[in-house]
Amino acid sequence: MRLVLSTRNQHKLREFSRLLAPHEVEPLPEHVRLPPEAGETFEENAVAKARAAAHATGRPALADDSGIEAAALGGAPGVRSARFAGECASDEENLAKLLREVPADGDRRVAYVCALAYAEPGADEVLTFIGRCEGTLAPEPRGDGGFGYDPAFLPADRDDGRTMAELSADEKHAISHRGRAARAFLDWLGRGRDGA
Ligand code: IMP
Repeated sequence: MRLVLSTRNQHKLREFSRLLAPHEVEPLPEHVRLPPEAGETFEENAVAKARAAAHATGRPALADDSGIEAAALGGAPGVRSARFAGECASDEENLAKLLREVPADGDRRVAYVCALAYAEPGADEVLTFIGRCEGTLAPEPRGDGGFGYDPAFLPADRDDGRTMAELSADEKHAISHRGRAARAFLDWLGRGRDGA
């Protein structure tokens, strides 16, 4: 199956290409405009992006809205993870702000969340698949893999002290929020689309 991925984020494109193989994941054509991320939930934003891409391309589309929730910050930055340190902030600036704001001796629990939405052209219903990955915030960034907050994310599923950015791509995908949501989507496809 060929799926349009409704994102401009090259990291997400790379991760989904691997997660959804042998299905083909195609980038969003340049001329398609993504809706603003105005929703208060990951699901709302993912649904809007998937619907926009299916409508504009006339093809089945997937969209991921994801981010990190810090317990000490009441779940922030959440849906604002990509712009935590400002509208045009870099991954490094966002991560530095999170490390400043979560108290060193406080609650260091964090969770990655991914809402994956699937839309077909002409269909009103958009399905969503949610993946979560629990962890704690490392005192300082380590590792060059992954993207975003990965250098300071210590996944609870592993006990070897490595951050997400120190895992191989396959190790990350086995436990990540995006991997879990992608597998839920593939299960649904495999069951013959009989309700998510
Ligand atoms: P959005 O879904 O485009 O709003 O942005 C998601 C943001 O959440 C990214 O820019 C990252 O800051 C963060 N994020 C989402 N998934 C990951 C991940 O797998 N690793 C690290 N950061 C992530």
